[in-house]
Amino acid sequence: MNKDGHVLNAVLLSIGLGYVLEPAGDFTTFQTIAEVTIPVTLGALFPDVDTAFGRHRKTLHNLGVLGIFLAYPIVFGNLRFVWIGVLTHYVLDLLGSKRGLALLYPYEKEYSVPFGVSTSSNYANAATLAITLFELVIAAVVVYYAPLYLPQPVVEGAATVLG
Ligand SMILES: [Zn+2]
Repeated sequence: MNKDGHVLNAVLLSIGLGYVLEPAGDFTTFQTIAEVTIPVTLGALFPDVDTAFGRHRKTLHNLGVLGIFLAYPIVFGNLRFVWIGVLTHYVLDLLGSKRGLALLYPYEKEYSVPFGVSTSSNYANAATLAITLFELVIAAVVVYYAPLYLPQPVVEGAATVLG
């Protein structure tokens, strides 16, 4: 997926997340959208830095990198929400293009799914929209149902990372 696809995905996902986290549609919703849009968009741009440094779809497209971004809010108390951008970048690359990702890099194998739209396709934007919607449904299910099934300390720990 190209940069414009990743930015479109990140911005729409952030707007949706604003409504998932603060559904009232009032000031708190727009405050949440403002709070998450920039970190999520920056995270969504980050993995493709490996087009210049390292090897594309390998060096910065793996679970270790995602783990580092997940650790920052816990260890240092900063970079909240950036991991969401990194994760959505991987999802969009996996579902929105034919080539796979070396998710277990430095193990070289690139993992892919048996479907996907080529980055240059006319349907790339439609695919991006569909994938964003799919991610928002998952986010809503996690936000609304996880607290019902998980122990309180786990929910509070997750809330620290998610905000
Ligand atoms: Zn990428």
